[in-house]
Amino acid sequence: MTIYTDKRLLRAGLIGGTFSRHKGNMRDLSSQEAALNELGVNADHILHFHQTHSDTIIPITTLQEAKNRLSSPLADADAWLFAPSLTGWGAAIVTADCVPLFLWDDTGTYMALAHCGWRGVVKGLPFKTAQALLSKTPRLHLNAWLGPHIQACCFEVQEDVAKQFPSECIIRQKDKIFVDLNAEIKRQLVQAGLNREDIQTPYYCTCGDKNNFFSWRRDHEKNMLLSFLYKP
Ligand SMILES: [Zn+2]
Repeated sequence: MTIYTDKRLLRAGLIGGTFSRHKGNMRDLSSQEAALNELGVNADHILHFHQTHSDTIIPITTLQEAKNRLSSPLADADAWLFAPSLTGWGAAIVTADCVPLFLWDDTGTYMALAHCGWRGVVKGLPFKTAQALLSKTPRLHLNAWLGPHIQACCFEVQEDVAKQFPSECIIRQKDKIFVDLNAEIKRQLVQAGLNREDIQTPYYCTCGDKNNFFSWRRDHEKNMLLSFLYKP
């Protein structure tokens, strides 16, 4: 498999997902372009930012704003929000253990893509991104999908990190501590107003599956996976 995705995205008229490592290191923009073009995505209309493990969200509300982003230096941020989504436009993020979080409504009119490292999760980025979409249209029916990332099986932490998370997403086994990011992100999204059943958290572990994914924790190499969300 070269791309991980959620059928509900297609049903909403969107294209999105996370490429497996077979498409190459996505730090390289030409690899990104090649992978996206293969899917019929216009790579020239894919927005990028400089990821900083923050809770900063960039809203795009008009075509002009999207165009301005293309011609400006990369902003520091960790989530894109399209309200409304623009035909022929989208955004991309790169990860190697962090969570690519996809949010969209049933009609694909609104969409968001967030880079949620554990620091971003602690800062409430999943909650804030969902809330930002819902603040546009409170009755919006939002769906969520979490792309491949480091799962609880491999995300061992020390007490200093564990204490920043609610106890419900901490797993203690003998003298080891693990964080379940799925559980915490789900909690935040439900708190923002999503239905639990509309949040899909497939168990693809970047750290545990070397055949398909890059992982910073496993390899300590600067190889990245690409996630994107696009309105064709
Ligand atoms: Zn694992």
